[in-house]
Amino acid sequence: MAEYPNIIKSKLPKVGTTIFTVMSQLANEQNAINLSQGFPDFDSSTELSNLVTEAMNKGVNQYAPMAGLISLREQIAIKTEKLYGVNYHPESEITITAGATQAIYTAIAAMVHEGDEVIIFTPAYDCYEPAIELNGGKPVFVQMNAPDYSINWEQVKKLINQRTKMIIINTPHNPTGTVLSNEDMQALEKIVSDTDIVVISDEVYEHIIFDGEHHQSAARFPGLAERAFIISSFGKTFHNTGWKLGYCIAPKNLMVEFRKAHQFVVFCVNHPMQYALAEYIKKESNYLELSSFYQQKRDYFNSLIKDSRFEILPSKGTYFELLSYKNITNMADTEYAIELTKKHKVASIPVSVFYHQKLDEKVLRFCVAKKEETLLKAAEILSKV
Ligand code: PMP
Ligand code: GLN
Repeated sequence: MAEYPNIIKSKLPKVGTTIFTVMSQLANEQNAINLSQGFPDFDSSTELSNLVTEAMNKGVNQYAPMAGLISLREQIAIKTEKLYGVNYHPESEITITAGATQAIYTAIAAMVHEGDEVIIFTPAYDCYEPAIELNGGKPVFVQMNAPDYSINWEQVKKLINQRTKMIIINTPHNPTGTVLSNEDMQALEKIVSDTDIVVISDEVYEHIIFDGEHHQSAARFPGLAERAFIISSFGKTFHNTGWKLGYCIAPKNLMVEFRKAHQFVVFCVNHPMQYALAEYIKKESNYLELSSFYQQKRDYFNSLIKDSRFEILPSKGTYFELLSYKNITNMADTEYAIELTKKHKVASIPVSVFYHQKLDEKVLRFCVAKKEETLLKAAEILSKV
């Protein structure tokens, strides 16, 4: 197709295709084991798929209500109260979204005005920065301190000024697998008190937390909950990332603004799958058993590679493991991830891409949401590198 010249003034001049797409594509081309993009290589439950079929056969095939199916919102309210001890009203404080990505974009679009500053912690999940920029905001970066990726809250405090509109946190954290503690959340609570800063708490891995640790949802902290959009993803919890369903919970005044944007970003999301999830989520073992399920995978993978030349940076949550290769080569992580995929046939994600300054700590991220046989094959290869 012929192009009319010079009509584009890109709003995202520095953005290319996401690393997840790039590495998954390379893995496919190279016939490599794909531990790059975060998704399970096993299926979600047939019970859940049967419920979707049932909904479709029943004629649940037209638009869902704008804010989501009320029966599903009620179940989310019950789960949130049970786990975090707070009550969100299903009518006015819960919205079902097209995955967490849309919820994050929508919360940013609804809140951030031209010139507003938004604090994000690096390494950061990749969708925050472009969403802030598309909406005229200015991302302000705080680097977490390797190797435990802790946050220096004094540093955060110093960055707060009249233009600070939002702080985005993510626990359990992608890509590092670290989790925020009770003390971290209290420190943040103190920093935002008496300000008009809103918080996005990206909690998509809320049910994947290891070694008996408890997920510190922003919902548990009144000084955060009063100003927080808490966002989760069914894709992570029920092994169906391709369904792209998630949700956002927030106090009513925030949710009113969220829905003003939501109705024009997507209006509503997949109806039959909401119907199925509303049933499936009633059984609490369907999400409460997730931590031990994934801890076993983490431990299995780590036990297989413990004598390799890779150094394990232990994950406390999520389904990712970071491995340092500093004892193997000095290559840039972006190049080494490509070499591992092409030469050794195991694909991973270079962690530098999650840093604004592309900081290269010689660390790669591996997704362990895989069948044991996949993890075994990958670990055998990595152990010989
Ligand atoms: N936030 C984080 C931290 C994630 O890891 C992901 C996806 N893995 C998302 C948001 C997006 O979730 P979804 O696929 O539901 O859009
Ligand atoms: N969140 C997934 C990951 O971290 C990928 C999602 C995506 O491909 N956008 O790998």
